[in-house]
This record gives sequence, C-alpha cells and structure tokens, in this order.
Amino acid sequence: MARRKNKRQIFEHVEVIDAGAKGKTIGKAPDGRVIFLPNAVPGDVVDVQTFKKRKAYFEGKAIKFHSLSNKRTEPKCEHFGVCGGCKWQDMEYKYQLEYKQKEVTNNLIRLGHLDLPEVTPILGSEEQYFYRNKMEFSFSDSRWLTQEEIESDRDLGDRNALGFHIPGMWDKILDIDKCWLQQDPSNAIRNEVKRFSVENGLEFFNTRNQTGFLRTMMVRTSTTGDLMVMLQFFKEHKEHRELLLNHIAEQFPQISSLQYVINSKANDTIYDQEVICYKGQDHIFEEMEGLKFKINAKSFYQTNSLQAYELYKITRDFAGLTGDELVYDLYTGTGTIAQFVAKQAHRVIGVEAIPDAISAAKENAQLNGIENVDFYVGDMKTVFNDDFIAEHGHPDVIITDPPRDGMHVAVVNQILNIAPKRIVYVSCNSATQARDLALMKASYKIVKTQAVDMFPQTHHVENVVLLEKLN
Ligand code: SAH
Repeated sequence: MARRKNKRQIFEHVEVIDAGAKGKTIGKAPDGRVIFLPNAVPGDVVDVQTFKKRKAYFEGKAIKFHSLSNKRTEPKCEHFGVCGGCKWQDMEYKYQLEYKQKEVTNNLIRLGHLDLPEVTPILGSEEQYFYRNKMEFSFSDSRWLTQEEIESDRDLGDRNALGFHIPGMWDKILDIDKCWLQQDPSNAIRNEVKRFSVENGLEFFNTRNQTGFLRTMMVRTSTTGDLMVMLQFFKEHKEHRELLLNHIAEQFPQISSLQYVINSKANDTIYDQEVICYKGQDHIFEEMEGLKFKINAKSFYQTNSLQAYELYKITRDFAGLTGDELVYDLYTGTGTIAQFVAKQAHRVIGVEAIPDAISAAKENAQLNGIENVDFYVGDMKTVFNDDFIAEHGHPDVIITDPPRDGMHVAVVNQILNIAPKRIVYVSCNSATQARDLALMKASYKIVKTQAVDMFPQTHHVENVVLLEKLN
C-alpha cells in the first residue's frame, strides 16, 4: 500500500500556473490535484515526474520543458539550480514581486478571511543583488559534486568546499565561487580564505565524523563601510588559527572586526559560545537616519539594510505618531524599530526574549542619546502581562514584529485586552499573520496593508498591516 502511494508518476504537458509557498511553482495533475515543482516558472509547459504523493497534492519536478515562460530571465548566478539560495532567480523581478504580492493577499483573504482595504502595491527592493549585509559560509571536506562533475572524467581535485548547504542535505556543502547576495569584498574574502587554507593544509570540517578544524565563516558588511569577519573553528590549533587570521588581516586591511570562535559542540550555532576578538573592534556599526546601531557577532540585524529602512519608514508612518503616544514595540530585537520611532513618540517600550539583544538595544539607545525608550527582556506570553501594563502604562499604539511562527495566542489575547487604538503588525510570514489577524477582526479593522520585498530572488516577503480599533 505504502509503496503504491509513493510510486513515481509522469504527467505530460503540464502548464505551470502559479508560484507560492516555499518558493515552489504550481501545476495541476490530470485529476486536478496540485503539483509543487521546484524548478519551473509560471507559464512553462513541462513534463513532470512526481516523487511524493499526498492526499491533496504531489511533489515533483519538471523533467522536460516543452515551452518556456515569457516570465523567465537568465539567472545571473553560476550556482543557480544547485544552490538553494535564490530559487526565483530565473523569474523576472517584476513577476517575483507579483507572486509575492499575490501570496500575501491570498493568505490574508483565504487563511484569515479578512476584509482588506485597497491593497497598495508591494514595495520592490532597489538593489536586486548584493543586498545582504550578512552571509554565513560553511567549510566541508566533502564538497557536493554536480551531476556534470560526476559524469565528467576530469580530475575533480580535492573535495574541500567553502559555501552553502545543499537544500535538505545537512552534511553537503556546495563550493561557491561567486555569490550574488553580498557586496565585495565578500566573495574575495571567501575565495582567498579557501585558497589559502587548502594551500596550507588546514583541515576542512567533516560534519558526519565531526572532525577537522575550519567550520564556518561569517561576513558582515555595513553601509558605514565597517566590515566584520568571524571564523569558527572546531578545535584550537594555535599555529593554524594564527596563520589564517594573520593572512586574512594582511590581505584585507579594510576588515574592522576580525573575530573567532572555537566551538567543539555538535552544532555550529554560536549563541552559547565565546566570541574572541582577534583584531580591530568586537563590533561594527550600521547607520540609519542618523541613528547608529552597534552590531556584534551574535546580534540580529535586518539583513537588507537599505530595504529595512523602507520597512521601518512604513511602520513609523502606519503608527501615525504625534509625539504624545506611549508605544510598545513587541519582539524588538536590538530595539531598532523602537529607536526609529522614538522621536515621534512620548515614550517607547521594547520587549524581546534574547537578553543579549536587549543589552545591545539599551547600549544603542544610550549611544544615540535617546532617553524615552525602555527595554525589557522575557518570553512575550509571560512578560507582557497585566502587571507589566500596570507598571509601564497603557499603550496607545502597539507595534509587533514577531518571528515566522507569529504571535502566541496569549499575546494576541493580551493585545485585545489592552485594546490600543492602533496596531502595526510587521510580519515575515503572512500565513501566521493572517491567522493572528483573524483573531482580532471583531475588534479591529485593517486600514492599510503594505508588502515589502526584503529578499529579491527568493520567495520571502515581509508585510506590514495597520489595524485600527473599531468604534
Ligand atoms: N523588530 C526587530 C526584530 C524582529 S525579529 C527588528 O526589526 O530588527 C523577531 C524577534 O522576536 C527576534 O529578535 C526574536 O528573538 C524575538 N522573539 C522570538 N520569540 C520570542 C518570544 N517568545 N518572546 C519575545 N521575543 C521573541
């Protein structure tokens, strides 16, 4: 039974009709069921081979293209199709925007059953490449081989890689030569670090066996010109560590923060690790409208700085502040939105779960000379309670910017109890946003909704909704 269920099927001449969740495009099987495809563009006509069958849909891939969509464009990146990073690079940007807008609107209407005002068109990103200020590359001694490499009889050289995880493969890394997401000298640093490490016999990590020396590298750029590079080693090897770090410092004198971590844990997250500053500062600065934000190796900062500025301006505009309001900024991270709106508010209270982020928020506020903000740390559903409101005041406006999961139902209920006159809901996942908004629709009206594209070439989309209290 189970075997028959997952039998591969071929469907011929399927028209790809849509693009949506998780970046996949959509066709229809002869029985009307949806087929999700990772490698097509709406408008293509393709033969499909399925590899997964579910009650309501298939997953498959296009194996033959009969005709190509006029929404296509030539992908710029040589790694497109293998690297999982920029799945929509073969779709013209204006259509990427169209599908992102559609996804947001559909989610709000179909999942949330919400009444929408006239939707203002999605705000595209001026930079469609090289827009990311943070990239993390992984070292591996078992580089992913492309089909072409496997089939060729060329000498494939060593198997070391410095690049990105192949989607769905935790231990396979694609070696990257040029990534189109982060400005120079990001590519130059990565390629030189790899070249030098291979030349000097530094061991690349083996995830499966948990062996090797070089683990990950993070590069953070900033619109201020600051540049952070952080190497993560699996174990201490002073001679090799200094050899590499000194070489990086010499070759790239523009690095203002060179740091490292020695992490022998099974996983490579650094949040519980000590970051050691090798050269320069232990932080960089980002700047926005004259505000400075100090960012250390562990800090969260919106990854598309220019577009984050647009997102924040929309958020502030939606908040409609006159200078008298008490504003709560829920899920404040390092307090960027709170500080961004502070000048137009009487007082702003930021709440966030990560203690380090709150320390950074306080430090940044002080640095910026902002005195009408306060920050508190804690899990939102616990800390944002009646006592908290009694102590810090009843907000006129709540700005909320939760993670992908959206808000806990207790947090939504607490917002409903507090009943501020305006709520600005910033979301990176319009499906959970729709779910949360549905819980509020008896008391709040959606006045504006504005999608913002922070991540060109991917399916990700941010959405800002303004709610006003009914009567
Ligand atoms: N508004 C910020 C960050 C938004 S990201 C900015 O624009 O930079 C979402 C934030 O929610 C993260 O900082 C994350 O640490 C925080 N968070 C996630 N779950 C939380 C919870 N249960 N309680 C409080 N904060 C949480």
